[in-house]
Amino acid sequence: MRGSEKIAAGHLERTALIYVRQSSLAQVRDNTESTARQYALADEAVRLGWARARVEVIDADLGMSGRSADRRTGFKDLVGRVCLGEVGAVFGLEISRLARSSADLSRLLELARLTDTLVVDADGVYDLANFNDRLLLGLKGTMSEAELHFLAGRLQGAKRAAAERGELRFPLPVGFVYDDEGATIIDPDAEVQAAVADVFAAFRAGGSAYQVVAAFKGRRFPLRAYGGVWAGQVRFGRLTHARVLGILANPSYAGAYVFGRYHSRRVVEPDGTVRTKVVELPREEWPVVIHAHHPGYISWDYYLANGARLAANTTNAGARPPREGHALCQGIIACGSCGRPMSTRYHRNGLAAYECSASRADHMATATCRSIAAVTVDDAVAERLLDALNPEEVALALAAADEVCDRRARRNRAAELAVERARFEAERAERAFHACEPENRLVARSLESRWEQRLFALNDAEKSLAEAEAAAPPLPSRAELEALTTDMSALWHAPTTAERDRKRLLRTLIADVTLLPEPDFSKARIGIRWHTGATDELVVARRQSVTAYRRTEPSAIELARRLADLSNNDIAERLNAAGYTTGAGRPFDRMAVANLRHYHQVPPAGLLEEGELTVADIAGRIGISHGAVIHWIARGWLPARRGLNNQWCVPFDPDIEAACRQRAERSAHIHDPDTTDAKADHELTVAEAASVLGVSTNVVYYWIERHHVQARRAPGGRLFIGFDPDIEAECRSRIAASVHLKPAPQSQT
Ligand SMILES: [Zn+2]
Repeated sequence: MRGSEKIAAGHLERTALIYVRQSSLAQVRDNTESTARQYALADEAVRLGWARARVEVIDADLGMSGRSADRRTGFKDLVGRVCLGEVGAVFGLEISRLARSSADLSRLLELARLTDTLVVDADGVYDLANFNDRLLLGLKGTMSEAELHFLAGRLQGAKRAAAERGELRFPLPVGFVYDDEGATIIDPDAEVQAAVADVFAAFRAGGSAYQVVAAFKGRRFPLRAYGGVWAGQVRFGRLTHARVLGILANPSYAGAYVFGRYHSRRVVEPDGTVRTKVVELPREEWPVVIHAHHPGYISWDYYLANGARLAANTTNAGARPPREGHALCQGIIACGSCGRPMSTRYHRNGLAAYECSASRADHMATATCRSIAAVTVDDAVAERLLDALNPEEVALALAAADEVCDRRARRNRAAELAVERARFEAERAERAFHACEPENRLVARSLESRWEQRLFALNDAEKSLAEAEAAAPPLPSRAELEALTTDMSALWHAPTTAERDRKRLLRTLIADVTLLPEPDFSKARIGIRWHTGATDELVVARRQSVTAYRRTEPSAIELARRLADLSNNDIAERLNAAGYTTGAGRPFDRMAVANLRHYHQVPPAGLLEEGELTVADIAGRIGISHGAVIHWIARGWLPARRGLNNQWCVPFDPDIEAACRQRAERSAHIHDPDTTDAKADHELTVAEAASVLGVSTNVVYYWIERHHVQARRAPGGRLFIGFDPDIEAECRSRIAASVHLKPAPQSQT
């Protein structure tokens, strides 16, 4: 070998590394000759004087592309060992094949020079310390890079040229096939054709990809398999949302041939690794677009309109498509005071409201920013819209009705086609059975069972067709429809008209609705901007609030005030007799009078007789809870009577009081019955103590529970902590010692 004199004893003492690589698995499989030659380098190393034990083969990178060193562990290993200086020579079949990226190669060569490592390829031995050798290897690397560049350029150029003629073939989307001459044609299978056409029809009808998926619920969708055992066959599956989006976005369906919709881009991650990302180019940047290249399912204009419609459905990009709720102006109403879009909110009772919530959230609400009941705006806008509908619009509506008939026909057509296919297959199985020689019993038997299966399938298909026909409610005749459309208002309010359709109709005519600033709370000023550019302004009365219209008449309140000393039942009777009703329009009863007393501060009747006390009086006097007093009454320990308003009246004298106090003292539930007052001066509540110490109340409760802190329970059930500087200091040291008790921010204020 040329240059073998450069091998010194120092090199032979170190390891000889043979680096074996093939870029792809296909090369590993097919280029066995090259792989064998690479392994033969080990024998060459022995011939050049290395001991067999010192020769190592690195072949971890078989099947790895040489584009970058990232994923090639073998190459990394090689570089690492050269760095350590334990390598005498690196063997490779062609030195440029060590790495396809010249950066990786130059780094290896530089390291080899520093560590006095030889590089050996089929042409000879190179010593990197020698300038000529270094130059030669550098040139070889550059040449190999150029070679790859020209090869790739020629391949890509040929591909691009074929694409520009529209002749480069790709796997076609479902609904298209290549004919014998290689031209793209619509799939001759009528079921496939119908399914694809129905995707576009369903999108036209429903307006969103999810509606298309819903329209295909329970119906199968075809997929033409490429590669694998099912290559070329039609498989059926569920139509998913992603597939609908793919179909709508695919320009092939508009008869266009497009090359370069996707582009692979190499990006460098922050950690230095290089990745390839496939990105979709915007339509303007597609390198090759040939219109009317093959028959399509839709026109190019319709394709563009679909794209625009999909973009208008993307809510996270700011679009506000019509939704299912009944608030008519959802998505198109704006606040005229602050200029922001108003949001729609549905209350639990089903009523909707438009709210200027964005401005409130940002603390930018103006004095005239409002929330308004949706029905107030919707009724006014709908009325204005129905007024504006003239006979031309009605004609449009009739066309829409025709489309519904068409849609219905399409739905049944899918089932009809399935029956046709099943019948064809049954007939074919029958023919095969009859064509079979009767002597060949084994074959005949299996053909017979196949025929039978096909007949079952046909039966199933016919049944589902009958079901589909039965399931659809009958459509009104055209004459009926015409009669209906002359009365647009009835059609608009018909329960069968979907909210979404109402909104679509509204949006075809009205661009947006604005709630104009109006200082008077009882009125709403609504601006309508039509698509024609015309504007309208309506002023409507707002619905009154509940407290405004559910109001008890002042004279009724006056009468109740005069009768205040009577029982609630008696007052109710007198009010009803005088012909008054409550705010809700119902006759008065005991509860209604009690409410009236509460809201209008009519003092309660003097109910107690001489020497009687209420439950609250006794609880306060003895220092116990209301519950305890009620309990005593219920147990019969404390005699009491029901007063006029069903209130307890307890005859109370010093003897009874003494008995009560005794009972309270004995009771295990009632602590400290003498302490009837609130907390003492030196005491703190739990919340106060928590605030002073800057911890959460839970922590204080925990300390009390663990008896770290002493507290007493007051009659009302509250805990009071006797707090002094010693206790506080102890608490603070407890906080300081704890790992999870960081003083809360409020303690620093
Ligand atoms: Zn506003």
